[in-house]
Amino acid sequence: MSKVKDIITKAEILIEALPYIRNFYGKTFVIKYGGAAQVKEELKESFAKDVVMLNFIGIKTTIVHGGGPRISATMEKMGKKPKFVQGQRVTDEETMDIVEMVLGGLVNKEIVSLINNHGGKAVGLSGKDGGLIKARKKLIEKASERGVDEFIDIGLVGEVTRIEPNIIKSLEKDGFVPVISPVGVGTKGETLNINADYVAASIASALHAEKLIILTDVPGIIDRHNKIVPTLKKQQIKRFIGDGTIAGGMLPKVQAALKALEGGVTKTHIIDGRVPHCLLLEIFTKEGIGTEIQA
Ligand code: ADP
Ligand code: MG
Repeated sequence: MSKVKDIITKAEILIEALPYIRNFYGKTFVIKYGGAAQVKEELKESFAKDVVMLNFIGIKTTIVHGGGPRISATMEKMGKKPKFVQGQRVTDEETMDIVEMVLGGLVNKEIVSLINNHGGKAVGLSGKDGGLIKARKKLIEKASERGVDEFIDIGLVGEVTRIEPNIIKSLEKDGFVPVISPVGVGTKGETLNINADYVAASIASALHAEKLIILTDVPGIIDRHNKIVPTLKKQQIKRFIGDGTIAGGMLPKVQAALKALEGGVTKTHIIDGRVPHCLLLEIFTKEGIGTEIQA
């Protein structure tokens, strides 16, 4: 009898997902994959299963990945010291070669294999493939003491100028899961390193995605009292940035989320990638997890 009860409970759990599945069927989700979920074996497996599951229930899923720690580790092996300004990597030519090798080669193909091992059909792309990501060199603003804005040159770091989403759409049509490394092409054909959060946001906008979900290694956005903020609006974000509550690697995430909302993405979430099956929890439960950014 208890066995039958167990089965009924399982069926009920599945049925709870029905309204979400109905709502999201045929829609596009863009997921920024990074942090521990990209490193720890158990989390890698649960992520891949979640993605394959989403894909098979009819949610078109595109993944944009980071790979910062792997880049830094490879740089250090080669005797180079990684440097960051406002959460973004200072990228000279040699560093750019390392970024492209590590992201497009090692990291990208590892994610592709992971998804394919679970029965998905992932295809790896960089921003160069099909002219996907056009970019220009980015200078970082720094307010000086005299009140005049100064710019810092951090090398071959780019910002997205245009996304050509046709290659993604073609792949989606045939049930493939595009896995994208955040490398763009500049106006002179130069290779530019772009923060994956921004790339994910731009791609989500270009695809008119239903959701942009950013996985990271914190439970969400944390306030001054060390509490997770479940929803955060533009005005609060400005305040949080102003008083230093949001800093470093969280800056590009909130900026990316706001840009995505302006670009027509319906919802954006920053979630804890250290939680197994965090994607399913976010998508198929009413409470969700992490922080939702709102316009
Ligand atoms: P990822 O690899 O996911 O891009 P980052 O290190 O670039 O991770 O960005 C996430 C980091 O942002 C967190 O680990 C944390 O140190 C930092 N951070 C800064 N402000 C906040 C905040 N208010 N809430 C949460 N994390 C924050
Ligand atoms: Mg980051």
